Amino acid sequence: MAISESSEFDQHEQVCWFADPASGLKAIVAIHSTKLGPAVGGTRFWPYPTERLAVDDALRLSRAMSYKCALAGAPFGGGKAVIVGDPGVLKTRPLLHAYGKYLNRIGTVFCTGEDVGFSVADCEIIREVSPYIAGTNSAGAGDPSIHTAQGVFHGLRAVLEARLDRDDFSGVHVAVQGLGNVGSRLCQLLAEAGARLTVADVRSERADQLARELGAQVVDAELIHAVDADIFAPCALGGIVNERTLPQIKAKAIAGAANNQLAAATLGAELQRRNILFAPDYVINAGGVIGAVEEASRVPGRAQQSLEPVEVRLLRIHERLRDIFNRAELERTTPEAMATRIAQELIARAGR
Ligand code: NAD
Repeated sequence: MAISESSEFDQHEQVCWFADPASGLKAIVAIHSTKLGPAVGGTRFWPYPTERLAVDDALRLSRAMSYKCALAGAPFGGGKAVIVGDPGVLKTRPLLHAYGKYLNRIGTVFCTGEDVGFSVADCEIIREVSPYIAGTNSAGAGDPSIHTAQGVFHGLRAVLEARLDRDDFSGVHVAVQGLGNVGSRLCQLLAEAGARLTVADVRSERADQLARELGAQVVDAELIHAVDADIFAPCALGGIVNERTLPQIKAKAIAGAANNQLAAATLGAELQRRNILFAPDYVINAGGVIGAVEEASRVPGRAQQSLEPVEVRLLRIHERLRDIFNRAELERTTPEAMATRIAQELIARAGR
């Protein structure tokens, strides 16, 4: 099947396939758009059942990165890389070096960093052979989840105002799914702000430990979406809002860090019908990209950006979401559809 026949294809500018039989590397880099600037996007290392699914994921995730950067006001386009295979089995220094050398061939139009299956330590190893990698501790912003969690927290304030008519978290009940890098930090911020927390993780010991530290309540990971909370904050994997879970969701709003929370785009309208406010994930989880702007603009061939402090740029997630909620209400559409439309307009305007 030709790449352009994929349902995820959206006039992507460039799609590259790399193979290095010696190390077992099979990688795809998809560059959706460079109209707003050189493309950025993490590298996902995942055991895709087929190469076709890997290509689809790279195409879909790179388009989402274009939208994320446009709405975050980051001077970047959207790209994404996937490495096909089980990172626990395949990931070695020779494979990461082979990947870094391929990144050098793409050059200045793409800069990558962490994603699922890919850590700050992996980025450090790639840095040994390639400058086109951000998210390193030695040369840049390090772990992006710190800024992602702060950004989600600011976004949740817009959700509070729009759906609960509140401007503080005191006593607000938030159910957090997934207590990894982002979820655990978000819980800390929410606890400090006075929120009441219910938490879950498939690693139950993680949930028990965090609950002890923060005075949260723990529920089974299978039940967290159905907790009768004010806000459900998905911070695990994508697809948590689906045909099975949607009828069980009791929260008034869904807003969290996970990418691709809606299993299908049509579910946005169903959430609206049920009066559940949904914060588009690529708007509320943009903190990592916002925090990495300086580092990504330091790669060879790019103009160094002069920017406001990162804290100020993260605060804008609050305003941006508020604007999206207001415009969606005025135009009788979903926040997801509104965000996509605004992002496409911003990219098209830059293209002209
Ligand atoms: P992570 O791997 O550190 O944490 C994910 C956590 O979710 C883990 O503790 C895992 O055990 C748990 N989990 C997995 N499946 C679960 C389930 N069904 N129920 C409950 N818990 C489950 O990942 P992270 O960096 O914290 O990212 C979380 C989400 O946010 C991901 O979807 C990621 O793509 C997205 N995201 C992260 C960043 C970032 O800066 N890290 C930026 C944007 C988006």
